[in-house]
Amino acid sequence: MSQDHTVALFVGPPGAGKGSLSGFCRRSLGWEQLSTGDLLRKCISEGSELGKQIDFIIKSGKLVSDELINSMVEQWLIESCGQGMRGVILDGYPRTVAQAKSLCEFVEKSLKGSRLKVVRFLVEDTVAVERISARFVCTNKDCQAVYSGLKNSAMKPREDMKCAQCGEQIGKRQDDKESVVKDRLITYRRHEKDLLDFYRDRGNQIIECDAAQPLDELFNEFKTLMNIR
Ligand code: AMP
Repeated sequence: MSQDHTVALFVGPPGAGKGSLSGFCRRSLGWEQLSTGDLLRKCISEGSELGKQIDFIIKSGKLVSDELINSMVEQWLIESCGQGMRGVILDGYPRTVAQAKSLCEFVEKSLKGSRLKVVRFLVEDTVAVERISARFVCTNKDCQAVYSGLKNSAMKPREDMKCAQCGEQIGKRQDDKESVVKDRLITYRRHEKDLLDFYRDRGNQIIECDAAQPLDELFNEFKTLMNIR
């Protein structure tokens, strides 16, 4: 499979706005998005034994195994990357060096010509925690649209707490509880430096954006940094 599109790797802590910016890129640029968190929650909702194990791991703020996530992502890329595709965002993947190695090998072998762009979301933990505590998501696992109860948010939930995109109920994610969020942030920071060093060592530029700014400004900065008109 020969490709000429961008594969953007969104790296940042939970609550940085990776999913929200991905939504802008889908709607405004026609890009595809894979959120590994969404994919795992969908798997949990199917009620299999594997889903139960994943649920347990997610609720503890830890990471699911590299092998499992790598094979899920490869499967998705094989099914989703086609001719004429403009760009792909991997949101929340890779999260470890082992995942990054596996993805880079896969892209070199099976997505020849794709341009890998590493996009790092810079945001303080305090801001991330504040955002997560105000976050709501659609409970429909084929939708999982994200809303924010924060003042000035462009993505406020409707008063009836139904999703504006699919009409299903919106609610809180179980792992958005304060105790789990702390562990998720620790897990993220534990891997961040090694992950970024891995990309630097292989010559990938790391595009850094200020993820504390409002979403529309972040989107504009993202387009400028990525040379998208
Ligand atoms: P997210 O929706 O990106 O915040 O992810 C929610 C949870 O799913 C994480 O806290 C992890 O437990 C799991 N998860 C998501 N992406 C990955 C990944 N790339 N590797 C391992 N676990 C992941």
